[in-house]
Amino acid sequence: MSMCKGKIIIIVAPSGSGKSTLIKRLKLDFPEILESVSFTTREIREGEVNGIAYNFIDTEEFESKIKTNDFLEWAKVHGNYYGTSKEFVEQQLSVGKNLLFDLDIQGTDSFKNYFCNEANAIFIEPPSMEELERRLRVRGTDSTGSINLRVNNSKQELLRKKDYDYCIVNDELERSYNELKSIIKDILET
Ligand code: ADP
Ligand code: 5GP
Repeated sequence: MSMCKGKIIIIVAPSGSGKSTLIKRLKLDFPEILESVSFTTREIREGEVNGIAYNFIDTEEFESKIKTNDFLEWAKVHGNYYGTSKEFVEQQLSVGKNLLFDLDIQGTDSFKNYFCNEANAIFIEPPSMEELERRLRVRGTDSTGSINLRVNNSKQELLRKKDYDYCIVNDELERSYNELKSIIKDILET
């Protein structure tokens, strides 16, 4: 028997592979999908809005939320905490909302353990390591140290690409987006 009425869609990818760009387009084409807003201790980037990109909180508050069991999953990624609100997910799934999550591999693995086949995980792969690094530099939102950390961590993340339900190479944006769109349509229809 199904644990939840709504669909669970996870986008998992190394930083800089283009997942935020793809998710932004998905949200326009699929208004019936709601994106879960995570909590994080990372610094807010220019252009990000608190409560929309993330709920930005400090380490003390995050650790207190861990203690009070507020997170469905949480992980330390590139030196910062990130976590999914348990209350938000349970509430939205119980009323049949389709939810989209942007998670790292640790969060995706937690979701797979918790929701099993009900969690649909889509891995977004960059065309190459060089292109990944180029995109992070062109984006211009992270310090050189943070970019280096993200590029280094991506090597481990890329080793996991075959472990999930789908894998898309984000080479040419229109092509990759169309591939993603057709996967999402299939998930919503089944
Ligand atoms: P992520 O959310 O995975 O960290 P972003 O969506 O922020 O990555 O993309 C990183 C950078 O690469 C951005 O500057 C974005 O405009 C650019 N980008 C995304 N997809 C492509 C693509 N298919 N081709 C070229 N540049 C891309
Ligand atoms: P960024 O700092 O670039 O926004 O995100 C860094 C990484 O954290 C990305 O891989 C993103 O998918 C992941 N992430 C964002 N929110 C969450 C979350 O709630 N839980 C987990 N486990 N990872 C998250």
